[in-house]
Amino acid sequence: MQIFNFLLLAGAVTALFLASVAWTRRHAPGAPALLAMQLSAAWWLTCYALPFARLWPDDAMFLRMRVIFPAVVAIAPLTLVFVLSYTRGTNRWPRSRLLALAIAPAVVLAAALSPLHGLCFGTWRGESTDSIFQMGPLFWVHSLYSYVLVAKSVLALVAAYDRGSRHVRRQTRILLGALIVPVICNVTFIAGVSPPDLDPTPIGLVASGILVSLAIFRRGLFDLVAVAREKIGSAVTDGFIVIDAQRRVVESNAALRRLFDIGPPVKPGRPLGEQLAELDEHVARLGNAPTTTEFVHGGARHLELRTFAICDDDGNTIGAVLIVRDVTEARTTSLALEQANAQLKAQLDTIRSMQAQLQEQVIRDPLTGLYNRLYLTDALARELTCSARTQGAFAVVMIDVDHFKTVNDVHGHALGDAMLRALGGLLRQQVRPTDSPCRYGGEEFVVIMRDVTLGLAIERIDELRVAFSALRFASNGVDVGRTFSAGVALFPQHGRDEATLLAAADAALYAAKAAGRNQVCAAAVTPWPENSSA
Ligand code: GH3
Ligand code: MG
Ligand code: MG
Repeated sequence: MQIFNFLLLAGAVTALFLASVAWTRRHAPGAPALLAMQLSAAWWLTCYALPFARLWPDDAMFLRMRVIFPAVVAIAPLTLVFVLSYTRGTNRWPRSRLLALAIAPAVVLAAALSPLHGLCFGTWRGESTDSIFQMGPLFWVHSLYSYVLVAKSVLALVAAYDRGSRHVRRQTRILLGALIVPVICNVTFIAGVSPPDLDPTPIGLVASGILVSLAIFRRGLFDLVAVAREKIGSAVTDGFIVIDAQRRVVESNAALRRLFDIGPPVKPGRPLGEQLAELDEHVARLGNAPTTTEFVHGGARHLELRTFAICDDDGNTIGAVLIVRDVTEARTTSLALEQANAQLKAQLDTIRSMQAQLQEQVIRDPLTGLYNRLYLTDALARELTCSARTQGAFAVVMIDVDHFKTVNDVHGHALGDAMLRALGGLLRQQVRPTDSPCRYGGEEFVVIMRDVTLGLAIERIDELRVAFSALRFASNGVDVGRTFSAGVALFPQHGRDEATLLAAADAALYAAKAAGRNQVCAAAVTPWPENSSA
């Protein structure tokens, strides 16, 4: 009997050792429940080993049963908590569920420790160590309740095995074995196969503890990674959630809850769509390929979702990791930046168009809308460079309104302006797009005509002269009209530079005036070397 007692104590010490191992890994899913289970087993075994009969000879057996009982009622609920914590990957349990699990054991225990103990232990006969119990109805209720919980645990493990990876399956097999051993021991006790005063269940619990330890040490059940994962999960600011192939939640962290503004914890084992329909829709749309997407949650929060498929050793997809990050700040900043950029671009466009307007104003004559003398200087220089390269000819025509001064003097400045505007309009309409009509100053105009012969230029200007002379301007009931005289010089015939060409055209104009006005004259060919400065 002493050897037997020694074995019981050795079992208790083993259970305490396993409890200490579970304590060191207490953050791993299931570890706290395993710790409590092993403490219960140690309590149970120690009570068996203690010499109750010698210490308390009166009703020693009854006393021992009552001392043992807290451990007896706790084992089955703890087993279920351990298995579900392990399969769901979390130690977080709603308090209400834990309390619900504890109600039946608490009632049975209260009865066992109270004068109602007969409901549990029934009657017993014999004295001290030889007592034989006839268990009462509450004991059977308790046994039935315990077996229902154990059956639930077995089913949970089978389901985990079913959907688990190869690694998870190996662990689950060991845990299933660990669950069966104490059940077999308990059945032998209840069926009366074992000695009536010795329940082998706690020994089965130690054996089961050894198997679980195997899973701990050999299969990494509570390995550092699991503990680290839990720590990291609660520390990171990004939300994450692990789902299985059927899109059921396996694990998630607190940050995810915060990002989606949900109060109660995300329940492991339940479909994602039931708890986070919005996220579920995105996952269903994205499929298994690793990808990143962005969406707006609650109308204001920009969330970035990254998905990574989890594959087993054979390459089959068994789930996915979803990482959710709040990118609102970055989006708001970039949006503000985009708006600022657009504003800046609009301002730049305005400045550019104003600049263009200003440039245009600088080279335009406000009265006629034609180019002014400033532009003419540039245009003439450009034309000279271009024609020198292409060996092309161009004409410089100088036009001056005849007797214009009298228009102002007799009919007023306003009529003079109207006449100048009309001549400007004629010039714009009648010259080719490649020609450049300019107001040279006062009532004098210069036209650069590209790719023309002298004859063609004279012909065109003469047409213009006829058209202008036909214009009539009303002044106090009188029709007023004017003519113009023009001089035409040709590059390179009459000059090879700006000054010579303008002087030649001016001389031709002077000749036209001298010949009686209202006519177009060609420049005379200036003899070499005056016509060679270019
Ligand atoms: P000619 O046939 O010899 O060219 O005689 P003209 O009267 O045209 O000669 P002149 O060059 O002396 O007269 C030019 C006049 O043009 C003088 C000036 O009052 C007038 N004039 C110059 N610029 C403008 C202008 O912008 N508007 C008006 N209404 N008159 C102008
Ligand atoms: Mg003049
Ligand atoms: Mg004049």
